[in-house]
Amino acid sequence: MPLIIGVERDRIMRRLVESGVILSGHFELHSGRHSDRYLDKRLFMQELVEEYDQFCALIADRIVTEGYSAIVAPEAAGMMVAERVLGHIRSRNYKVGYAPAYKTDNGFVIDSNYKREIAGRCVAVIEDVITTGDTAVKAAQLARSMGASVNSVYCLFERGAHRRIGGIPIHPVVSIELQDWTPPCRLCEQGIPLSPKPMGGSQLALSD
Ligand SMILES: [Zn+2]
Repeated sequence: MPLIIGVERDRIMRRLVESGVILSGHFELHSGRHSDRYLDKRLFMQELVEEYDQFCALIADRIVTEGYSAIVAPEAAGMMVAERVLGHIRSRNYKVGYAPAYKTDNGFVIDSNYKREIAGRCVAVIEDVITTGDTAVKAAQLARSMGASVNSVYCLFERGAHRRIGGIPIHPVVSIELQDWTPPCRLCEQGIPLSPKPMGGSQLALSD
């Protein structure tokens, strides 16, 4: 269940479109699939500072009220969100363990120094954007292999209608329904050229 729904979600969606965080066009996603809309997550984090902070505060509230005792964040983008969430958690005088999960040539790893942060604890995975959820699932499996129990994934945005991934409930702050298709998509068939991605950024693609 998203943390923001109803009229507040409508307000945020308008803000995302007005500020250019959600773009319309003909985009090739990181996955190679095509979409008519694109979420520029870096622009969200850099320009919609108030909303970004509000989103992180909402996740922090959940971590505290649900009683999680540790968080795991996969890759740089997840870690950026997790560190801001941690700031809000600490400002509530609540303590959680924290373990970053890095992608290496041999798959995801959590440095063994972080094992004590999560072993035997109830863990939430923190992500920026969930597309397929593969990254979050891998981070969850890794945390479990180190003795943690993983009960939830929290993310800023989720772009489908996922409720669970790999058996784990997903809680996006905002769910935005974006469709994507295997090319040639209907826009290809209409001869519409691909839109340039903002800042040319592979890391901007709305993908894992
Ligand atoms: Zn297309």
